[in-house]
Amino acid sequence: MKGGVLALQGDFREHAHVLADLGIAPVEVRRPDDLAQVDLLVIPGGESTTIGKLAASAGLVEPIRERTASGMPMLGTCAGMIVMAKRVEGGEPLLSLVDITVRRNAYGRQVDSFESDVEVNGIDHPVRAVFIRAPIVEDVGPNVSVLAEHEGHPIVLEQGNLVVASFHPELAGETRLHEYVAGKA
Ligand code: GLN
Repeated sequence: MKGGVLALQGDFREHAHVLADLGIAPVEVRRPDDLAQVDLLVIPGGESTTIGKLAASAGLVEPIRERTASGMPMLGTCAGMIVMAKRVEGGEPLLSLVDITVRRNAYGRQVDSFESDVEVNGIDHPVRAVFIRAPIVEDVGPNVSVLAEHEGHPIVLEQGNLVVASFHPELAGETRLHEYVAGKA
């Protein structure tokens, strides 16, 4: 299996390491040709506005939407969640795939970053989560399931083949969320 990581900006290298640890060959996706080779795609954390602009100018928006419509599994973490959301407060939606409203930078500034162990439905043991200027999910559509919450806010959500998390599993060396998504391929 080949696992794509959108490699335009953000911590894509850490995600590639997680995929490699799971025995999935990582592929850095920068152009539509790269996307065509992969069985799943991860959108990393970083700066969602920058990832959005670069993805649009690389001509990746429609190809990603087409692949996900035909079932390719996709994981978005932090900025990746924002890039996949249908509604963004404080920003523009890009892929408009997951029926949620997110509010950017809602947990405060960089200094308010924190780590926590979170229970995720469908994953046996708590998942280590690193929150860095994370978005808060304000609203969840009817076809989206909440797999984990933190202090009353959804933090991991699933809509069919799409999974989004407001935190960074990859910065804690956490592999199980990626494994869960790869299980859909
Ligand atoms: N604050 C960033 C954004 O709005 C996301 C931060 C992150 O990915 N850690 O895009």
